[in-house]
Amino acid sequence: MAARYTLETEVQYVKGVGTKLAQVLSKLNLYTLGDLLFHLPRRYEDRRQFRKIAHARAGDAVTVSGKLVTVDNMKVRNLTLTKAYLDDGSGVLELVWYNQPYMKDTLNKLRNSQIVAYGVVKESPYGLQMETPEWEDLPDGADPDSLLSVNRIVPIYPLTEGIRQKRMRQILWNTVQYAHLAPEILPRSVRERLGLMPIQHALQQIHFPDSEQAIDPARQRLVFEEFFLMQLGVGMQRQRTRQERGIALRIDADRLNEMLHRIVPFELTNAQKRVIHEIWSDMAQPHPMNRLLQGDVGSGKTIVAAAAILAAVDNQYQAAIMAPTEILAEQHSINLHRLFQPLGISVELLVGRLSNKQRQQARERIATGRGMVAVGTHALIQEGVEFARLGLAIVDEQHRFGVLQRAALRDKGVMPHVLVMTATPIPRTLTLTLYGELDVSIIDELPPGRKPVRTHWKTPEERLKVYAGVRKLVEQGRQAYVICPLIDESNKLQVRAAEQMAEHLQNDVFPDLRVGLLHGRMKPAEKEAVMDAFRAGELQILVSTTVIEVGVDVPNAAAIVIEDADRFGLAQLHQLRGRVGRSEHQSYCVLIANPKSDDGQRRMEIMTRTNNGFLIAEEDLRIRGPGEIYGTRQSGMPSFRVADLVKDMRLLEVARQEAFHLLESDPDLSRPEHAALREAVERFRHRFAIATVS
Ligand code: ADP
Ligand code: MG
Repeated sequence: MAARYTLETEVQYVKGVGTKLAQVLSKLNLYTLGDLLFHLPRRYEDRRQFRKIAHARAGDAVTVSGKLVTVDNMKVRNLTLTKAYLDDGSGVLELVWYNQPYMKDTLNKLRNSQIVAYGVVKESPYGLQMETPEWEDLPDGADPDSLLSVNRIVPIYPLTEGIRQKRMRQILWNTVQYAHLAPEILPRSVRERLGLMPIQHALQQIHFPDSEQAIDPARQRLVFEEFFLMQLGVGMQRQRTRQERGIALRIDADRLNEMLHRIVPFELTNAQKRVIHEIWSDMAQPHPMNRLLQGDVGSGKTIVAAAAILAAVDNQYQAAIMAPTEILAEQHSINLHRLFQPLGISVELLVGRLSNKQRQQARERIATGRGMVAVGTHALIQEGVEFARLGLAIVDEQHRFGVLQRAALRDKGVMPHVLVMTATPIPRTLTLTLYGELDVSIIDELPPGRKPVRTHWKTPEERLKVYAGVRKLVEQGRQAYVICPLIDESNKLQVRAAEQMAEHLQNDVFPDLRVGLLHGRMKPAEKEAVMDAFRAGELQILVSTTVIEVGVDVPNAAAIVIEDADRFGLAQLHQLRGRVGRSEHQSYCVLIANPKSDDGQRRMEIMTRTNNGFLIAEEDLRIRGPGEIYGTRQSGMPSFRVADLVKDMRLLEVARQEAFHLLESDPDLSRPEHAALREAVERFRHRFAIATVS
């Protein structure tokens, strides 16, 4: 009988399930025996210590064992109460169930025999009481170790409507009898080196641990396996890219440096120089570059992108750069145009606001190869845009795009080099997860003369003082942003509130200054006009929604006031703050907030405490979790069954090392002893549609 079971056996055939419960389990995405095996406890309760009833106190969660004496049903208003009494010699405890009249018969059969119950003890007018306890009977001569819900460390499972904890536990107990079906896929050498327990043992212990000490190693073993599979997939993907034939560019670094020197108005930082050389040497390779460029807000990534573009164009290849917002695309096009004009390199802009004719013309120049550099939003990857010779695809602010969009841009060329840029500092665990197959360059240095932004947290009552501070800065020649409370830009009323705020600031607070307004519902041309005016210094104050959140660069802006700041997430606040502090001027960020929640307060405190994007990102990850920050599928974020990207950071590093080490000796896992492993990697990739560029 048991021999016929496999991990693929449907749950309904597992002892204790049947067709009706199978329906219920499907709501938890549990379809097969294998799924059930990995339906892990969300926590445990230690119910090993028995408490004498005489020593139980109200509020304690206790396990008691005694003889079941009287049982009866009673009606109280529209409730049916089932009451039973448990006597352990030291005292008597009342057990109560609500609206389960059948309990009376069940319990009556056990009268005068031993049962074990677990629950929280309460004081009632009639003495100590336990409501809806978990309980089991202990027939004469039965082994107390055979109990599932008491007298052990008891697993508590995630549930759904239609199944109770005790039933779920029983089903899992029956399932764990098949733990031996789970294949041991970890190579023995890896297991031995890291002291990881065999899979069968890990599964048994994670569900029904023999001791408290057994839980952690069991979990580690399972977490490691997940990370190991992921990193093997990532590593194999990396190798594949390396084997692809790309475009080996002729990189004349002296000549390129000379050109850069001619067009860039400042001295590059050492970090910029370093990453530019990393990128150039990638581009000289006969396989496509696949690189992530990380650098905090304001670290100067744009110029690095420009250096990469220069290398492509110098080889008569086209380059494309895709940005997540029109405002950012326009800004890149202005900057690149200004930079490249002295070299006679043309820049095409492809955004939604173009007229049909303009779009047509831009497309044609790109298709014929006359347009060497294309800048745009996702309009760039829409159908109809063809490149003559795309050699370099750059994605700016990658975290705003999905994996598929990254791939779509790349597919506009034949194996072009790919550079992905992101300003949101990402904790390393996430980098390894989302971008594990990419090489990473980090700009860890800000341009010289930058003063850290000073961040203050103020209450709404202090707003006038804040405005006075803004006025002082403006009098010194600086500009300021005022960010409206988080709004839904599809909601006309909320957009109206932004307009009112701008009117109020213009009429009542800064009548002698020029105040502009920017929000997502404005026509692209209007937006562009406002940004132009702000860039040119014609507007001193820009009231804006979060449309300026990423990438916008107006170095003269030295203050940003964020209304209702506690409604923004940490990453978003850090991005917003990154709009200032982009020059040698001392800049300020003022958070106006009256946070109701602890979380909100914590976020405000973190913001005032540090400017370090990586610290903020790690806090954000801790507070919100990866799913919330990055979404799942769309961004390529796998959802793990066991692993936790915050808690298990260290194991991920180990798994990556082990995975890459293994691939060195068996690059495609083709050795016979790795057959099961290889299959598991494929399944993992399939299950999570893992983030890959191809
Ligand atoms: P981000 O990394 O946020 O994309 P940008 O590329 O927009 O940063 O650069 C921020 C600002 O710093 C821009 O105004 C840019 O001209 C300026 N900048 C970049 N590199 C340097 C440098 N080495 N020295 C001085 N200013 C620089
Ligand atoms: Mg940028």
